[in-house]
Order: sequence, then C-alpha cells, then structure tokens
Amino acid sequence: MIYRTDYHIHTTFSDGRSAPDDYITAASAAGLSEIGFSEHLSLFKEKQEWCMNPDNVSSYTGYIENLKKNVCGITVRTGLEVDFINGKEQEIGTFLDKLNLDYRIGSVHYLGEKTVDLGPEFYEGKNIDKLYESYFEQVMAAADSRLFDIIGHCDLIRIYGFRPATDPEPHYRKLAECLKKNNVAFELNTNGRNRPIADFYPDRRYLHIFCEEKVPVCVNSDAHFPARVGQYFDEAYNLLRDTGFTEMAVFEGRNRKMVSF
Ligand SMILES: [Zn+2]
Ligand SMILES: [Zn+2]
Repeated sequence: MIYRTDYHIHTTFSDGRSAPDDYITAASAAGLSEIGFSEHLSLFKEKQEWCMNPDNVSSYTGYIENLKKNVCGITVRTGLEVDFINGKEQEIGTFLDKLNLDYRIGSVHYLGEKTVDLGPEFYEGKNIDKLYESYFEQVMAAADSRLFDIIGHCDLIRIYGFRPATDPEPHYRKLAECLKKNNVAFELNTNGRNRPIADFYPDRRYLHIFCEEKVPVCVNSDAHFPARVGQYFDEAYNLLRDTGFTEMAVFEGRNRKMVSF
C-alpha cells in the first residue's frame, strides 16, 4: 500500500460538518495510512464562528488522544491550524507550548483585521500586487517565528483568482528559501480545487521552486466534511512526482521524518 497522510482536517470542533470519527471512517475507506486533525485556532482576534474557542482546546486534544488509542488500521494525529498574528508570536508560543501536538500548521487568513478567504469583496478596488506582497510577507513571518511545523495554503491570496500585474515568481522563490532556512514544511493543499481558483495551493507553476529548495512537503485536503478527506490525492501525488519530489513529511510529537512515496 502507498503511504499517504492527510493532516489538514476540520471537524465540528471548529468549522467542519461532522465529528472526527466520521472522518476516520472516510480516511480508512480512502486507503490513507494517517489522518491528522487540525482545528482552527485564532488567538487575539474577535471570536469567529469558524474557529474553536481556545477554552475548548484541551477537550479537543483529549478527544483525539482517546481516538488514537481506540482506532485500528489507521494512525491518528493531533494537530491545530493556528492563525499567525504578527507581533503575537510570544503569546501564541506560550499557548501552544502547553499542548501535546503531533504538528502545528501555521496559516495566514488575516491581512490586518480582514480575512482573505471569506469573499471576493476583500479584493475589489485593491492593488493586487500589494496584497500579494503583504500576504507572502506574513507567510514568511509565520515561518520565521519557528512556531510551526507546516505552513498551510501558502498562497491562499489566489483564492478568488485576482491576479497581480507583475510576475509573482520571486515571492515563491523567497518563500521557499525562507521555509528551508527555518526547517518548515509546506503543504500541497487540494482544497483550492473546490474554491473559485479551482487549483491546488501553491500554484503548480511554482511547485518546482519548493522542490529545488528541498522544502519538505505534505499533501493535505483541508476537508471540512468527510467526503473530502484525501480528495484529489492521486492527482496531487502525481503532480509532486512529476515535479521531482520523492518523499513527504510525516509527524509525530512534532518530530518530522521523511517517507518515500
Ligand atoms: Zn486555512
Ligand atoms: Zn484549514
């Protein structure tokens, strides 16, 4: 069996539609070797319905730890998808250090007080080149913070298809170098196929840059309901193979090892 993992899953603990158990059933049916849960956690922002209440984090991790002990045939991992907030690195670190996680996904959803993925209105009338620049800057700051093991959907700013006037390739080059320097993995996030951009994150045209820089990769679905666990994974792994990747990152207790695929 080919070893496959899916580390980016949202359940009813944040904005997903089903309980973790249902995703495990789906992951087993999809032939995955590991499933990891990664609820949204956004500290220092107004409470949002898509995020878990920070007070519920320990009941969430407790629930997943219990599943780990009782589920057979598939390895269960505990993670979080944490919003990176510039200037709050220390506080986020203090909060996360108390938790026993297999990995931390660091994601940028906010530019300032607004999220980039809750509607195209955010982009209207704005300078898209500047938005790209700010977004990549935030993602690099997330990597530089060394708080995270994996950077989530590193070019989410593409979501609604607003294109910059200038070639964005230098952003990808700088980002890949930054990830490598900080020893942080990135994900090939297949959920972009379900969004207006209808493509994976990051943009497949620049995937070779991450390969050249030898940045560790994971393939993740970012599923918000069970039917999307492992979605488009054949295509994603083929794309990685065609690009030159031969192995992927697997996490346990925040230790990374590389597994061939
Ligand atoms: Zn996200
Ligand atoms: Zn997510």
